[in-house]
Amino acid sequence: MTNGNTETIDARPASNFLREHIAEDVRTRKYGDAVIQTRFPPEPNGYLHIGHAKAICIDFGLADEFAGKTNLRFDDTNPEKEEQEYVDAIQQDIRWLGFDWEKLCFASDYFGQLYEWAIQLVKAGKAYVDDLTADEIRLYRGTLTEPGKDSPYRNRSVEENLDLFVRMKKGEFPDGSRVLRAKIDMASPNLNMRDPVMYRILHATHHRTGDEWCIYPMYDFAHGQSDSIEHVTHSMCSLEFADHQPLYRWYIEQLGIFPSQQIEFDRLSITYTLLSKRRLLQLVQEKHVSGWDDPRMPTLSGLRRRGFTPEAIRSFVAAAGVSRTNGIVDIEMLEHFQRDDLNRRASRAMAVLHPLKVVIDNYPEGQEEMVEVQNNPEDPSAGTRQVPFSREIYIEQDDFREVPPPKYYRLSPGKEVRLRNAYFITAQSVQKDATGNVAEVHCTYDPASRGGQSPDGRRVKSTMHWVSARHAMTAEIRIYDKLFSKPDPGEVEEGKTFLDNLNPNSLEILSGAKLEPSLAGARVEDRFQFERVGYFCLDPDSTPGNLVFNRTLALKDSWAKIEKKAS
Ligand code: ATP
Ligand code: MG
Repeated sequence: MTNGNTETIDARPASNFLREHIAEDVRTRKYGDAVIQTRFPPEPNGYLHIGHAKAICIDFGLADEFAGKTNLRFDDTNPEKEEQEYVDAIQQDIRWLGFDWEKLCFASDYFGQLYEWAIQLVKAGKAYVDDLTADEIRLYRGTLTEPGKDSPYRNRSVEENLDLFVRMKKGEFPDGSRVLRAKIDMASPNLNMRDPVMYRILHATHHRTGDEWCIYPMYDFAHGQSDSIEHVTHSMCSLEFADHQPLYRWYIEQLGIFPSQQIEFDRLSITYTLLSKRRLLQLVQEKHVSGWDDPRMPTLSGLRRRGFTPEAIRSFVAAAGVSRTNGIVDIEMLEHFQRDDLNRRASRAMAVLHPLKVVIDNYPEGQEEMVEVQNNPEDPSAGTRQVPFSREIYIEQDDFREVPPPKYYRLSPGKEVRLRNAYFITAQSVQKDATGNVAEVHCTYDPASRGGQSPDGRRVKSTMHWVSARHAMTAEIRIYDKLFSKPDPGEVEEGKTFLDNLNPNSLEILSGAKLEPSLAGARVEDRFQFERVGYFCLDPDSTPGNLVFNRTLALKDSWAKIEKKAS
């Protein structure tokens, strides 16, 4: 089901307890001839983030390994927070990640069946209608150290419960006035087993069932039974559901339906990253970011717009592994997998982000020529292209120092360097603007060094990228940094919120970058390595006259490191 290519990045992941669990069930024929069936169950209340990518890779990946099937099931039991926009975006993101589902399902498809099962439990004396308010229910529930108290409505007769529940469904009662609860054990050490709510009254329009229902099942009453209806054999979910597993089993056992098995694994957490739809929604709604697909967001659509690839995300998730305890992964690890992938696949191009004009005084005015450049030195099959060269070019401001510090090997007066694939040039003089900044560097070139080699074997210590001034395209470059400035963005001092941990410098816009003209043909989401600068991806905000590139990641800059050490 995956798009191939993963194995080139990393060896197959080591075995893990989920895989072993399934293998054991296959070996013992726990489910007879039934195929291994998994599901991915997002709630359509936001866009998918990279934490969901982990669950997706587990659900789809393991089913695939065992020749099984995976359903996509929307857990749409909460009409107030759910929207069609999210349903569409989630499907698009799963496909982008490289997976496809067997069946597209919705928990709301099962509302009729779930209602019948609720009636069955009422008739069996296993469920009752409670008139306590939500606050009272909370008070009666007790705490981790104290048992709960029975509701005064707990011992209603089956007839009365049946009558009230049917009338709840008919819409006779206002929101919040009554709930249906499972009759389990108010003294259970597991709070989830203290007569959990099964149904609540909510006169809300649902994105699929409209106004057909005014009672909605709780997650716990919907999830296990939905698994059972779909004959899900292995229902894998993150650890916070572990305490819900006894309830998951209780419903299935009481109803005598297909015994799906829930298994929990650790949630993915990444430094400098928030993975909670509720908080991501807040960032969107309060406009701290430009939308769910802002390239700084850890959503799949944000990462995609930033230039991340599904292959790298899958490799990262596989390398992060699964465990039975929650941990935290360094964001550098994700970046490592992405650089590795792009280094192998991204076409090279020359782009000057902070341009400084260089005039080659002995290069004939009006002359121009094409130099041949390899598209990707890591991949000879990517071929070559022609790049125009002329008398005036741009180089990076950082590639010239009028007074070079020690160990500075780039261009400075009297120093010779190589312009990649073009010529050796030597700086002769500078021209300054009114404020005393270097506005132009005047150089001479060695015509014999065409292609970047000198026939006399002369060596230079630096090779620099450049763009011909006359042919350059001006573009906007968006430089992204981490969205949060704290490794744990959720860690806040008293009186502050996670918003106080936002990095004020997470986006820098450069408007005057100079690009080689071949980039005019770039299409949205095309990814490049701008030589010596970093990885970039064409943003959908681009127009033919104004290209916008997002920086996916910087290359590791050795000079920045030397400078940092020295300071
Ligand atoms: P959030 O906490 O961001 O709101 P959620 O768990 O409420 O996420 P769901 O739509 O309910 O989001 O999640 C769908 C599936 O994805 C669930 O099985 C859940 O266990 C899994 N999942 C969500 N976040 C993570 C994560 N960070 N790491 C691994 N799995 C996750
Ligand atoms: Mg959830």
